[in-house]
Amino acid sequence: MAKIASRIAQLTGEGALAVFTQAKELEKAGRSIIHLELGEPDFHPAAPVVDALRAAVAEGRDRYVATRGIPPLRSAIADYLKRTRRLDVAAEQVLVAPGCKMALALAMMALIEPGDEVLYPDPSFPIYPSFTRGLGAKAVPYALREENKFQPDITEITAKITPKTRMLIFNSPNNPTGTVFTEAIIAQIAELAKKHDLWVVADEIYARILFTGEYKSIWALPGMAERTVIIDGFSKSFAMTGWRLGYAVAQKHVIDALDMLVLNTFTCTAEFSQVAAIEALRDSTNAVPAMVEEYRKRRDLFVEKLNRIPGFRCQSPDGAFYAWVNIEETGMPAEEVQRVLLEEAGVAGIAGAAFGAEGKNYLRFSLVSATHLLEDALERIQRVSSRWRAAVAR
Ligand code: PLP
Repeated sequence: MAKIASRIAQLTGEGALAVFTQAKELEKAGRSIIHLELGEPDFHPAAPVVDALRAAVAEGRDRYVATRGIPPLRSAIADYLKRTRRLDVAAEQVLVAPGCKMALALAMMALIEPGDEVLYPDPSFPIYPSFTRGLGAKAVPYALREENKFQPDITEITAKITPKTRMLIFNSPNNPTGTVFTEAIIAQIAELAKKHDLWVVADEIYARILFTGEYKSIWALPGMAERTVIIDGFSKSFAMTGWRLGYAVAQKHVIDALDMLVLNTFTCTAEFSQVAAIEALRDSTNAVPAMVEEYRKRRDLFVEKLNRIPGFRCQSPDGAFYAWVNIEETGMPAEEVQRVLLEEAGVAGIAGAAFGAEGKNYLRFSLVSATHLLEDALERIQRVSSRWRAAVAR
């Protein structure tokens, strides 16, 4: 039989989707489930964004357009990065893609050779190592450990750099830990990248969902704009997951390379989505700060109450909308805690191994449900945990 290309066997999926499917099955069978497994905001785009989309479709903005994105959106993204992140980016350094994941894949395809080594955080978004392997390269994890407040250990990263290391990926705020890398760590990563001539892929998809301080991008550090690719988009900051809108920011010769891949694959991102995205960036109703405030409330509620349940331990995340919960003291493997919480308590979370080996004693809960649902989830977790503690004591 004709064979599937071997690179496909190198790829792996996302654990969240498997739990979601199981949770949906339970719901179909009549169970009440609180969904805390997917990284999908429960908000929808602000009304002016939806209006802009309708108007764009009505005006016939549904054509093939420039492969790297419509010029007004590329300029609007450059202005937005200046306004929100103080970055000096030109419109020619921006390429629009259908989703951050696609922008990430384009950057990785353009910059990684077979046999290269790519450093990535563990735990993190599972696509980093999967797609690295798919490109015939070696994925080399560096750990984000609780004892370091989930900051990377620069000594470990340094020790893992070899002549084959081509790229370092990081994601701050990090999915799943919510860690915002400190300025000192970012400066040290920048020094290593310059010393060893590495590309840096900075996945800044959660940059706006920040609970303290101002976002500091590695792009702004001396000598880093030449070797950094920023990946960002509209899925999380503007609650536009299904619109499939992301972008890459890099030097023009890198953008030219990504553009060649666009031309050879999906041609362009939908015109009407791009027109409406300009409205999202304007954020005329201040939807983004309101959403971040709501995530902050959810974080404070969830972390504080969960830490009172014996067996569960969680540091308060500085950004993104996840709680990364240590379950070691329940005495059960994370997969078992995931199963019991889903099947007995009707609370869907994900066992941390889905995000890398360092996640083995953790569960990730997405804080993408309203506070009353989070309170309900916490009560359910409390009830199940009391039951299993009583069983152990017996
Ligand atoms: N990068 C990280 C760290 C993510 O958590 C996600 C989505 O969960 C993505 C990228 C993908 O974003 P998009 O939906 O825009 O493709």
